[in-house]
Amino acid sequence: MKLVDSHSHFDVAEFDDDRGEVLARARAAGVIAQILPAISLAGFGKLRDMCRSEVGLYPAYGLHPLFLSEHRPEHLDELSTWIERERPNAVGECGLDFYVDGLDRDTQHRYFDRQLELAREFDLPVIVHARRAVEDVIAAIRRVGQLRGVVHSFSGSLEQAYLLWKLGFSLGFGGPITYPRARRLREIVSTMPLEFLLLETDSPDQPLHGHQGRRNEPAFLLDVCQCVAELRNVDPEIIAKATTTNAERLFGLSLSRSKD
Ligand SMILES: [Zn+2]
Repeated sequence: MKLVDSHSHFDVAEFDDDRGEVLARARAAGVIAQILPAISLAGFGKLRDMCRSEVGLYPAYGLHPLFLSEHRPEHLDELSTWIERERPNAVGECGLDFYVDGLDRDTQHRYFDRQLELAREFDLPVIVHARRAVEDVIAAIRRVGQLRGVVHSFSGSLEQAYLLWKLGFSLGFGGPITYPRARRLREIVSTMPLEFLLLETDSPDQPLHGHQGRRNEPAFLLDVCQCVAELRNVDPEIIAKATTTNAERLFGLSLSRSKD
């Protein structure tokens, strides 16, 4: 089975002590590729070097809304330079977070809208963070237009999911769907068109059911895949094949076609 973790912060300090072991466990679990979305300008260099030195790690550059206090308007110009020079697999992580207090909404919008424009300008997919803000995210995607991408760790309604599919966006699902109480999300996952589904861990965040309070890691993507398969009552291989193909297409990956 081959899996792609479409959203992993594998570059962050939480993995500095045992990154090699974590990567080995991921590969043993079938995770042949990870998309690594950046958080802030300060981390771009480390992220690039890591993706250059390891097979199967793919960078995205962006300015994450939760780190608003670290961003400066000129970082958007720097981001543009990085994208042009490095040609990453996506723009992100960017988006809107209306759940956490103290993040000015207008400022978030300014950073988000500009990053959507960059994605369009450079013809790259965009990796979107949307917490309590799916409505505004949809409006921004519409306003900018001609975009493709993923709303990661989707937590909106079925109606919002439909609107995003109509705009050509995929939805990323991970740890949260493994919790039995997440009825609405599990309902969406069990009935949604497979072509818009991506698997993710959001490592080191969003631990799976049974792992609360612990560091999440890409190897657990296999459990996410199995959970989706159970919810849809199909073989996990079907979910793995479909989501890996989706990730390859969206992020322009050329993963090996060899048989497993
Ligand atoms: Zn993230």
